[in-house]
Amino acid sequence: MGAPVSPEGAIRAVFLGPPGAGKGTQAKLLAERLGIVHVSTGDMLREHRAEGTKLGLEAAGHMKRGELVPDDLVVKMVEERISRPDAAESWILDGFPRTVPQARALDSMLEKAGKTLTHVVYFGVPRGELIRRLTRRRTCGSCGAIWHLDFHPSREPDRCDRCGGPLEQRDDDRLEVVERRLQEYARLTEPVLDYYRAKGTLVEIDGARSPEDVFASLSEALERTPS
Ligand code: AMP
Repeated sequence: MGAPVSPEGAIRAVFLGPPGAGKGTQAKLLAERLGIVHVSTGDMLREHRAEGTKLGLEAAGHMKRGELVPDDLVVKMVEERISRPDAAESWILDGFPRTVPQARALDSMLEKAGKTLTHVVYFGVPRGELIRRLTRRRTCGSCGAIWHLDFHPSREPDRCDRCGGPLEQRDDDRLEVVERRLQEYARLTEPVLDYYRAKGTLVEIDGARSPEDVFASLSEALERTPS
């Protein structure tokens, strides 16, 4: 993945797309490449749940059912995260905003800070491919490594190659929950695409390709889009 990315200037990017579109993978790669903060609301909520915080307990039921966590909780969590010193200039938001009220809340946070978004990127992937990606994903219960039964298999289907830990399916990667997550996406998150389309800031990338090819398109898009 030797494609160049523009490291000049601040990057305040929003990555949008349905569950399973690969936004997390791309956000992680880009954040590592540029040395900037990757803010994944899904990861943050899973950490809260694992630590049993008040927010984690409130979020757990929604997450298990494949529903969104209430806006006010997620907005507060993101606001706190991007106000830390390591996020003063640049960050990538992965999985936020997921509703129009969240998008509006982000706009007012930025306005208060006298800043703007530099990039809004949408990763599109057809539904059948999303279902295959999500329901066949496995996560190591010990080290958190992510595997896939078809695309990135561990040598043994239930044991992690990296640490020998047990491989598990995320509760919300079960088929019935994936279907619910996709319905929620269509109902609540697709309007967010229109919100940014109307502002003329949305860049669309075909996410149904290898992570390397998607990253190359992402890098090009970042260089093209004026920040
Ligand atoms: P993800 O890992 O991004 O697919 O997120 C996992 C789950 O966390 C989602 O299905 C939601 O229940 C919750 N979640 C993550 N981000 C948000 C958000 N921006 N708004 C509401 N719920 C969220």
